[in-house]
Amino acid sequence: MSVSKNTARATRVEEYLIKDEPYYEPVGQEIAVFEAAYRQQLPVLLKGPTGCGKTRFMQHMAWRLKRPLITVSCHDDLTATDLVGRYLITANETVWVDGPMARAVRTNAMLYLDEIVEARKDTTVVIHPLADDRRVLPIEKTGELLTAGPEFCLAISYNPGYQSVLKDLKQSTRQRFVAVEFNYPSAALEKKIVRRETGVDEAMAERLVKFAGMTRNLKGSGLDEGASTRLLVHAGKLMAAGIDPRTACRTAIAEALTDDPEMIAAVNELSSSLF
Ligand code: ADP
Repeated sequence: MSVSKNTARATRVEEYLIKDEPYYEPVGQEIAVFEAAYRQQLPVLLKGPTGCGKTRFMQHMAWRLKRPLITVSCHDDLTATDLVGRYLITANETVWVDGPMARAVRTNAMLYLDEIVEARKDTTVVIHPLADDRRVLPIEKTGELLTAGPEFCLAISYNPGYQSVLKDLKQSTRQRFVAVEFNYPSAALEKKIVRRETGVDEAMAERLVKFAGMTRNLKGSGLDEGASTRLLVHAGKLMAAGIDPRTACRTAIAEALTDDPEMIAAVNELSSSLF
């Protein structure tokens, strides 16, 4: 039985290149900060609630810096092996297959670990040697030590809003990163985003943003989170496809936010005061 390394994937890195500019509306200094961190080879932590533009920002930065973007959505079953790689046994040989992390290092890509705290605790530790000035990835199973090139870049995202010890990022992890805070954009900017992303008119975008503000005020009094920009975009897209505004808000926003019938009724009431 022979053992070989799967390098075929490295040649297909073009698949991860983003050709057209992803629309991203800057909210503050995040583009300049990310670029500076990239040039100084510092890893970046994107903090903020779900649906506020973190993923879109990464797509935009990958396009801007002309790097392939490899994204991993972390979940509680994600092991270090899933990230680094594993041996696969086929009919007559054992093949090493890089996981997204090894692939990203080998191809000088941008590696984005989305919702890092969802991953198992032992998984987060594998990013440590890559996230400090060593910039290496030890692959125990193959005995390799990959050194990241200057163009490799590591970014992780994290939603601090869940307020649970289990979902907290360890100091030993977070203190390796430059942290960039994301939040919902200002009303004027959010209106612009909703218009651009959905095609709804100015007045409708304004009402959607107002509605979002109302739901965000309910955070902590029945809702875990208010409506994100993503949900406004969903509602706007339904409207653009001919769904009436109240139904669009109920299905894309109220029902997406909660399963509690009383809260759904409360959110629907807010929407009927506007639409
Ligand atoms: P996150 O990764 O923070 O959960 P996303 O990046 O997926 O959120 O954002 C959800 C959607 O909201 C995007 O697909 C996009 O339509 C819109 N969006 C949010 N913020 C922005 C922004 N600053 N510029 C452009 N679109 C945005």
